[in-house]
Amino acid sequence: MKKREINSVRTPVYRDSGFELPTAGATSGAFTAETDHEREPDQYIYSRYRNPTVVAAEEAVMELECCDWALLAQSGMAAIDIALSIFQEAGRQSSWLFFSEIYGGTLSYISSVLQKRRGLEVSFFKPAEGRYDYALLENTLSDTRPDILYFETISNPLLIVAEGRRVIELGKRYGATVIVDNTFATPLLWKPLDDGADLVIHSATKYLSGHGNVTAGVICGNDKALMQAAVEYRKFVGHMLSPDDAYRLQTQMASFSLRFRQQCDNASDIATLLNSSEKVSRVLYPGLEAHVTHAAAKELTGGKGYGAMITFDLAGATPEARRKNRDRFIAAVYPEIRLIPTLGDNHTILMPVEPVWGARYPEPGMIRLSVGFEDSERLLTILNRGLES
Ligand code: PLP
Repeated sequence: MKKREINSVRTPVYRDSGFELPTAGATSGAFTAETDHEREPDQYIYSRYRNPTVVAAEEAVMELECCDWALLAQSGMAAIDIALSIFQEAGRQSSWLFFSEIYGGTLSYISSVLQKRRGLEVSFFKPAEGRYDYALLENTLSDTRPDILYFETISNPLLIVAEGRRVIELGKRYGATVIVDNTFATPLLWKPLDDGADLVIHSATKYLSGHGNVTAGVICGNDKALMQAAVEYRKFVGHMLSPDDAYRLQTQMASFSLRFRQQCDNASDIATLLNSSEKVSRVLYPGLEAHVTHAAAKELTGGKGYGAMITFDLAGATPEARRKNRDRFIAAVYPEIRLIPTLGDNHTILMPVEPVWGARYPEPGMIRLSVGFEDSERLLTILNRGLES
């Protein structure tokens, strides 16, 4: 069979599971070199180890994050598993501190995997009145000296913005490895590695791919030893992204900045609309001056934007009335805005908070909007229709 060399400007989708090695001698050389876990191997061997299409997409993430390496995984959760598992050592007692306001799937991973199956000692740092108390964080770090400090830049669904630089500085001062899930802020608003974070994670399912058609995760860093540990863990556990998804991710990332800017602008317009409506009792959007962490957000992002997530509460005299108003609103904005349990899509989508988070956030009128990059005027008309209902 003839192998064709084509003058494509993009790295194509290499679907090969195994790559041809020329000789027996080259085979042993390739396998030996693979154990060094370089970011890009000289010889590709097997797609679960490394794949050229995946490496090309990783380079696109590196450009965005301005970091030395990025490793893709099949989901954000797989990226989180890699980022945390590389710090586990048999027989070593370590304690890890997580901010409590993190993605529900990460909380489930902590309880079902880290605590239940792996016996890790984990504690949580909670906010009070919608913000984090950094004096309390310092006391906690100084008392417990955790090995890992893990937080999300913008929390979900309350959209509490952490003073990221301060958290990193405190974590490092007390000897912790600092890991940041930056999915909601994206590298456009803040690059935690520039401020000393050890690892940054994204669910690339969200804004990086941005069209609701890829499930992927990525870990970014600058430390070579951490990269080698992550490459090895990904290889042995099999958390590698598929070349098809990597190709789609790479091409869609080319428009990431344009898309996300538009999403932030749309979110700002929508938050202003919701905030001015008497049908809405509360709007949580870090771009609004009334938001408890507005100043933290402004400082962190330099005012570049406040993200594209908005959580708001529909008014009503009783919990039942608020629930009814929520359901009416959801019906009235359909089909342009649909109830889809993800975020960071090209379309604006929504989630009712109470049925998803239950007792954690039991407000019956609460809705979380993930704002897309549709025409802003059109979006405002649709949302007005929802409010009028
Ligand atoms: N981190 C955050 C902040 C998320 O919102 C999610 C998913 O919603 C994840 C991680 C997990 O990502 P994935 O669903 O791609 O596994």
